[in-house]
Amino acid sequence: MRSKKANVDSHATMPRIVGENGGMMMRLRAFFLSLILIGLVPASATPVILATLKPVHSLVAGVMAGAGTPELLIGGALSEHSYELKPSDARKLQAAALIFEIGPDMETYLSGALSSARAKVIVLEEMPGVQRQPARHGGLWGEDDDAHGPRDPHIWLDPQNAIAMTRAIAVALAAGDPAHAALYHANAAKRVTELMALDKEIAAALAPVRAEPYLVFHDAYHYFEARYGLKPAGAITVSPERPVGARRLAALRQAVLQGKAVCLFREPQFPPKLIETLDADTKIRVGVLDPLGAELEPGPGLYPALMRHLAQSLTQCLGKNR
Ligand SMILES: [Zn+2]
Repeated sequence: MRSKKANVDSHATMPRIVGENGGMMMRLRAFFLSLILIGLVPASATPVILATLKPVHSLVAGVMAGAGTPELLIGGALSEHSYELKPSDARKLQAAALIFEIGPDMETYLSGALSSARAKVIVLEEMPGVQRQPARHGGLWGEDDDAHGPRDPHIWLDPQNAIAMTRAIAVALAAGDPAHAALYHANAAKRVTELMALDKEIAAALAPVRAEPYLVFHDAYHYFEARYGLKPAGAITVSPERPVGARRLAALRQAVLQGKAVCLFREPQFPPKLIETLDADTKIRVGVLDPLGAELEPGPGLYPALMRHLAQSLTQCLGKNR
């Protein structure tokens, strides 16, 4: 063995110092290994792709499958509203090359942090094909239209919007990583086919309960309700972070007693206390709706699971023969 040193700069001098076949093979192998290593440096420093909420993360993960895994900013059972960034979140934002968010109507807590981030930010609510719904107010939806801004930010709860977002995610990922462009577009096409099937499945499942009125915890399901022709009667809270006033509670109780809602849905992120005060004397049925997948594992499967859980909760609580 002539040399044990795998010198990456040796190729210029290699022919002179190689005296026999074994040594030459050794040197050549080291040389090609060094080329591979040089090629691997940018690959191992793959740009960080960050998604803000679990449903967004799920759609991004589906498009990235086989090329990498996105980071999730807000995991666990937390509200999608009024989140407070931790120092570790700020570091994640700074490290990211590409950030997918719903938009300023949802991630209000990000506006300051994003202005100093060097990442490219994809605002999904502005992508082509994403349909917007206005925030609801009046009657049992409450009067305060500042709670969510003028437009409802829960855009992912319509599979047609998830399809538009999936396509936009593929375009953004391909632009930043042309080497995987074909994979991103192929993954997106596959996800779109799955989302179309999911949409049909949910429409069929909900058809029997479309006329049944119900109350939700907060006004998060406009997209879902509009897509599937459901009959929500109102929301319990005007803003998930604010306490519900006595007058509002009285009006809700009255509505329940008059049969204007047959079911009441709480959310796993928020304590059930408020719901207990309402269902204690009205005996209304109580279900759970989870708009964020708070209790689901992050990943490509979260989005379809979240949507199926919504449909199942509604059919179970609203179904006549439960
Ligand atoms: Zn919300």
